[in-house]
Amino acid sequence: MNTPIEYRVRPADPAAHLFEVELTIAAPDPTGQALSLPTWIPGSYLIREFAKNIVRIEAHGAEGEVALACTSKSSWTAAPVDGPLTVRMTVYAWDLSVRMAHLDETHGYFNGTSLFLKVEGQAHDPCRIIIEPPQSARCAGWQVATTLPRVEGDPLGFGVFEAPDHDAAIDHPVEMGTFAHSTFMAGGVPHEVAITGRHTIDIDRLHADLEKICAHHIRFFDDAPPMDRYLFQVMAIGDGYGGLEHRASTSLICKRDDLPQPGMTEMTPGYRRFLGLCSHEYFHTWNVKRIKPEAYLPYDLSRENYTTLLWAFEGITSYFDDLALVRCGVIDVEAYLSLLGQTLTRVWRVPGRHTQTLADSSFYTWTKFYRQDENSPNAIISYYTKGAVVALALDLTLRQRTDGKVSLDDVMRTLWQRYGKVAIGVPEDGIEAVASELCGSDLSGFFDMAIRGTEDPPIAALLAELGVEFGVRPRSGSEDAGGTPPGDLTALLRRGELGATIVTGNGGARLKHVINGGPAHAAGLSAGDVIVACDGLRVTGRGLADRLARLGPDAQVTLHGFRRDELMTFEVTLAKPAEDTVWLSLDEEASEAARARRADWLGQ
Ligand code: ZN
Repeated sequence: MNTPIEYRVRPADPAAHLFEVELTIAAPDPTGQALSLPTWIPGSYLIREFAKNIVRIEAHGAEGEVALACTSKSSWTAAPVDGPLTVRMTVYAWDLSVRMAHLDETHGYFNGTSLFLKVEGQAHDPCRIIIEPPQSARCAGWQVATTLPRVEGDPLGFGVFEAPDHDAAIDHPVEMGTFAHSTFMAGGVPHEVAITGRHTIDIDRLHADLEKICAHHIRFFDDAPPMDRYLFQVMAIGDGYGGLEHRASTSLICKRDDLPQPGMTEMTPGYRRFLGLCSHEYFHTWNVKRIKPEAYLPYDLSRENYTTLLWAFEGITSYFDDLALVRCGVIDVEAYLSLLGQTLTRVWRVPGRHTQTLADSSFYTWTKFYRQDENSPNAIISYYTKGAVVALALDLTLRQRTDGKVSLDDVMRTLWQRYGKVAIGVPEDGIEAVASELCGSDLSGFFDMAIRGTEDPPIAALLAELGVEFGVRPRSGSEDAGGTPPGDLTALLRRGELGATIVTGNGGARLKHVINGGPAHAAGLSAGDVIVACDGLRVTGRGLADRLARLGPDAQVTLHGFRRDELMTFEVTLAKPAEDTVWLSLDEEASEAARARRADWLGQ
């Protein structure tokens, strides 16, 4: 077969973390072929400059070397050439995340965004991708896991793959190595799990739970699955967490201890977190991989792409990821309410929710959410967490206004049929329009409040209609993620508060964030200050936090600390603890009607 574009990938020097990629263009632009490498990867909205990892790049034609002019930090133009043009790159791959590439003698992993140059003018042409095995004897027995369609080679073998265009070529990451591989079925589609990294696992339990979650999402969209196979590509490490969605796979990083262990029967918080991550990325197969904002059709990977809708693509996904776990029976209602309480806590603890709207959080993700600093809690709100809270509020508002006939499930199914399934981009006002249409009444007031305003949605009142009580309390310590009742509330209310995030570092207690309007701010303390003494006694991070909590509200304390190399003294009056920790509970007195609404919401 004569394919116009061919990429040949060699894990050339695993010990030096170097891939070699050879791109052959059968019919290059006769006026000079322009080429570019993406600067970002869809799903992770930060300019990452993948071209910085190109160690060498050169071009050849039938007559020998061809001049390659750099036209920007990530684009080139090859001089005109008769016949095929070959471009060879050596790429450094030592980023252990789901976003770039990683290669050593234990495994290789890459996203096409790191290795596959875009051939300008031919980006819509089919590509042939040849993946070769490493030559080192220390890499014997390696296999390949990817959802790139295979042309030649055994299942899991090195060989030849294809993609209909560049957009597809960069959306099927490739894992190579000695991963553990297994398969289960869901919705009539084979689902593979490939786990890299030393680990032990009860794979039957993982399959059983993932099957329920995947089958739930497929049923949710009430249509045939949009992919004919799916791959969970897992990197198990000592500590880490992350995922990135693709059209037929997801790349995940997790703690190996979060995987279900042989003989384990309980649902540990770690395993629940891992299943929540799998559920999140799988829901993205529809929501953002296919139901996409207009701004992403097509992606322009040379620069930032702006949309105000990430609250829907990430927030609605974050709402349904945990909700699916209770609806499909992987966790019980109490566990779900605890998770939802933790999500609400993550929003209620961020004063920046009263400064930045969700529309702005989405739009400015490139410079704000993805580039957070010490002032972020004062200035921004996450479109993941607040987006999930707004998704909950929208769901319950739709149920309330339509007497339970319409829910956010219906909005998502309509978005799938109207946009995702037919590859039409969702306009910036498209989600609001569908919600109002299905609701049968104008919801612009809701969206003005929730998306374009900075008020908290009326979660307590909405949940009350389902017989769920919303409570807030002070936090009990730095490990308290919320979602649980207060225990001794009187004791919690007696804790003194500094209005700063305290961590151990630089030989004392370092202030990671200072909350505007709190006691630390009032006393002139700044993020970055390192407190070394409290009332004349030396302190470390945990020690200072505990000591201030014990001193109680209104206590006056003298703190000594360094800013740069200058020792400074701060007179602080501690405050009452903020009631920013949310927990939810079932209202035992709820009416039959409220219980019925709750059962419908939770799919019981
Ligand atoms: Zn996501």
